[in-house]
Amino acid sequence: MNAGMAHSYESQFGPASDPIDIAQFIRIATELETQAPISVPMFSPSPCSVAGFEAMDQLPEEYKESVAEECSITDIKSSIEEMLDNPTLYAHITKTHDTNVYLIHEHADTSGRRKRKRPALLDPAHEAPAVTALQKTLDSVQLKSWQLMLDSALFMRAPKNSDLNVLTAIKKSVDPSSSSQFEHTSSSRKTALISLTVYNRLSWGHNLLSRSSQHALLASQTLGDLFEAIPCTSNEIPEERMVNGEIVGYETPTAESPETGSSGCVICIEGKAYGDGISENDYADKLIAHFEKFPSSKRDPIAKGPTSIYETLLSSLSLRLNQPYYFLHQGNCEHFVVIDQIRLLHPSDPSPALIPAATPVLVPSSSPPSAAPAAILESTNPYPLTLQITPPLPPLCRACSKVPAIYSIVGDMRLGESPCVLCKVCWRVMGDGDEDVMVVPLPKYELGW
Ligand SMILES: [Zn+2]
Ligand SMILES: [Zn+2]
Repeated sequence: MNAGMAHSYESQFGPASDPIDIAQFIRIATELETQAPISVPMFSPSPCSVAGFEAMDQLPEEYKESVAEECSITDIKSSIEEMLDNPTLYAHITKTHDTNVYLIHEHADTSGRRKRKRPALLDPAHEAPAVTALQKTLDSVQLKSWQLMLDSALFMRAPKNSDLNVLTAIKKSVDPSSSSQFEHTSSSRKTALISLTVYNRLSWGHNLLSRSSQHALLASQTLGDLFEAIPCTSNEIPEERMVNGEIVGYETPTAESPETGSSGCVICIEGKAYGDGISENDYADKLIAHFEKFPSSKRDPIAKGPTSIYETLLSSLSLRLNQPYYFLHQGNCEHFVVIDQIRLLHPSDPSPALIPAATPVLVPSSSPPSAAPAAILESTNPYPLTLQITPPLPPLCRACSKVPAIYSIVGDMRLGESPCVLCKVCWRVMGDGDEDVMVVPLPKYELGW
């Protein structure tokens, strides 16, 4: 890695931690937890760990209740929920916020550029009575520290696409194969939860990375499980349909037959390249052969990992937090995986239990023996969890550069490039090309949602 890249990563993620041996971490953390005086999980928030809890515990019951009532926030919560459920009040709140943010940006902008039209607020005299009442309540709030000041612009940035999440709830894995490495005994044994973020390079700044998705895996899972969980638009590139050695069309992968995971990958962790092991000369071998073409002063030392990604348990690795690990698949699609957190599994996390199926499936005698255990044991392991997916940005139409393209036009002489991505209107204006022209609908980039 060159100095510029290292500096850029450190400024984005902070300095990397020392390597953490996952297996050792689980052992030490479990020991600490079992040695704790009370049988409360050490890493869970508990009132017992608050100073003076014993004194509070000895107080009379009515007194405890009155303290609990005084500290309760249910009234604030219900009034906020009521306000958010009312469209008029909610619109007033968002509009006021947007106007305030606009004013702060306008105040901070000293470039003298022409300003956009200021968003107008309705005259308070014409507002609905409910809105006036709400504003009065808000104005009477004594807490002033949360208001936006004119200097707030120093601490604000514009919203980014990577702030969005296409998921409305945590997505659990449904593919039973993802838990293939999960041992039956693990549900009773302690394991660690590893949260990580996948980043993509930005097209306009190759040293800059942007969040594309976030996942949580168990230490008892493999790098293969991680690979299968990562959604990527490259997995939706239409497949060429060949007849007699000639391309006759393209097939877009669907949710029923996604192409994910079929083509292999390499993940580089701490100087080791873990390949897919699908073929003799897998991704890891090819990547190492590619690196060997560089002069030795310009390449990072890398060796092939002892096992393939499907055999490498996360608990067998030493990982550093905040260190971008390189991940390559689909030929030239690059990502970076950054470990955000390693902790023991908490009772409030989704349980990774394996339970026997309610109605055992009878396996025909002709099936290979290896199929039998899968039929009897139904997996309820929801890991890897997907916590966030950034909505992918589709390419813009090459003709109008205004709206997202929905077709890829292959082999049309008139367009000057092939394939050329166009929107529906631009392609209609063009009129049909000659018979050799292929119109391929672009994928919707929704796999993994
Ligand atoms: Zn990719
Ligand atoms: Zn267009």
